[in-house]
Amino acid sequence: MTWLLDTVSSWNINIIASYLWQNVTLQTFVQFVIFYFVVIWISLIVWVGRDISNRTNSIFLQVISILIVLFLTPLGIFAYFLIRPWKTLFEKYYAEIEGNLDILAESITNNLVICPSCWTQVNLHFKNCPNCSFELQKECQDCKKLIFHEWNICPYCGKKQEKEKLVKKGKIEKKKEEKFVKKEIK
Ligand SMILES: [Zn+2]
Ligand SMILES: [Zn+2]
Repeated sequence: MTWLLDTVSSWNINIIASYLWQNVTLQTFVQFVIFYFVVIWISLIVWVGRDISNRTNSIFLQVISILIVLFLTPLGIFAYFLIRPWKTLFEKYYAEIEGNLDILAESITNNLVICPSCWTQVNLHFKNCPNCSFELQKECQDCKKLIFHEWNICPYCGKKQEKEKLVKKGKIEKKKEEKFVKKEIK
C-alpha cells in the first residue's frame, strides 16, 4: 500500500511541476510584473496624496505632486521627494509654538510685557506705554502703588478696588452732594 501512496504523491508533484513549467511562460511573468508595478504605483499615488496634504495647503502643489507620481510611474516618487516641503504642517506649527515660547521666556526674564494698544514691548513696571501712552497699570485707590486694571484688590495694602465707572459715578454723586450741601448752607 505504501508504495502505491508514494507513487501517487510523487506523480502529483510531477504533474504540478510540469503544469507550472508549461504554463508559467514569459507572458505570465510579464503580466505579474506589470500587475506588481500597477499596485505599487496606485499605492504611491494614494500615499503621496496623503503626505502632500499633510505638508501644504496649496492646492497647486498638491496637484503637481500627484501628477508627478501619476505620470512618472512609481519612480516619480524620487522627484516628489525632491520637491515636497521639508516639514509637515504639524512640524511647522510645532516650531512656531516653540518660537513663541522662546519669545515669552525672554519677555519673562527681561520683565517685558506687550502693550495691548500698540504691541511694543514695554517694561512690566511702567504705568504708561512710552510709545502710545496707553495706561498699562493704574494706581491703587488707597496706597497709590501701581496695580493692574483687572485686579479687584490691591496686593500691597489689601484695599478692595472699586470699578472705575463706579468711581466716576461716585465722584459725580459726591459733587452733587457737595453742591446740595453748599446750597443748604446758603
Ligand atoms: Zn503702546
Ligand atoms: Zn494699595
